[in-house]
Amino acid sequence: MVTAKAWVLKKHFEGFPKTSDFDLKEVKLPNLKDGELLLESVFLSVDPYMRVYSRRVMKEGDIMIGTQVARIVESKNPAFTVGAFVVADSGWRTHFISDGKDLHLLPSSWPESLPRSLALGTVGMPGLTAYFGLLEVCKMKPGETVLVNAAAGAVGSVVGQLAKIGGCKVVGCAGSDDKVAYLKKIGFDEAFNYKTVKSLDEALRKASPDGYDCFFDNVGGEFASIAINQMKKYGRIAVCGAISLYNDSVPQKGPYVQVSMILKELRMEGFLVSRWSNRREEGVKALLKWVMEGKVKYHEQVTEGFENMPMAFIGMLKGENLGKAVVKV
Ligand code: NDP
Repeated sequence: MVTAKAWVLKKHFEGFPKTSDFDLKEVKLPNLKDGELLLESVFLSVDPYMRVYSRRVMKEGDIMIGTQVARIVESKNPAFTVGAFVVADSGWRTHFISDGKDLHLLPSSWPESLPRSLALGTVGMPGLTAYFGLLEVCKMKPGETVLVNAAAGAVGSVVGQLAKIGGCKVVGCAGSDDKVAYLKKIGFDEAFNYKTVKSLDEALRKASPDGYDCFFDNVGGEFASIAINQMKKYGRIAVCGAISLYNDSVPQKGPYVQVSMILKELRMEGFLVSRWSNRREEGVKALLKWVMEGKVKYHEQVTEGFENMPMAFIGMLKGENLGKAVVKV
């Protein structure tokens, strides 16, 4: 019998999550039935959506929601062999039993040289968010100018690089000088630290005096209200995330977007990457190819130790991560 460790939501988050909101539990797993497999998590993802969804889909005492790369350690399911790696959506736990449904095997073309944790980042859900958000929501075209915020994070860093591959000019902003230096290193045309510029409005204008055709918004709130004024006529805004609002106990108030949207005839569309679940394979294949060719670079913020998951999650919300934040068990 295997005993799994699992992190549960002890108390619903009020404002910024605290380590005391989590509890580490032990869960005894039963023996496998026919058709089932036993998996051990190797890398776990910490993502902003966990903060947003905790209130919506979880009750206190539930195991934290989340995704992992896991290795099959025992199998009574002929479709899965021991030793294979999958992406699973089984929450913050070290071991779990699955019937094989909803598991995604890592592509057979996955090279040994590439960390498997990328299946949670650049070649996983965040990369797919960048891919479909740019292609299907922003509908970027060569020669256009793309703005992305939280640009040094998991989604943003891929957005910028895919926009470059697509022949666009890319402007990114992030919350530290080291992150800005990284953005320039991976090919962003312009990058600035939104925390230290005197005026966000001026910094955006300086980075692209003609304005922006596409705005891939990961942050929302005040940043978005200011950026909207710098859109070109008929600009497109992909509302991907609103991390500046997730920890608010009291909702923020305007300025409101309607007048800018009317005068510039903008299109603004919220989206969830799950809309393109049926095209997951296409996206993973494209991202893996670009990574292998060196056209898309990656960086990961790896926290060692399952016991440090809450710390890694809170650190990511605070902006301590460069690239994708993952936990190595
Ligand atoms: P990141 O790797 O970008 O990590 C979060 C980053 O957000 C931090 O590193 C920090 O970077 C930035 N941040 C935190 N607080 C603020 C703030 N108040 N203002 C501005 N920036 C802030 O996370 P992801 O790439 O995984 O996610 C990015 C966004 O995309 C999130 O909003 C997320 O919810 C959304 N998302 C949406 C999906 C969808 O299907 N629609 C799917 C996946 C993600 P910095 O140092 O630059 O401040």
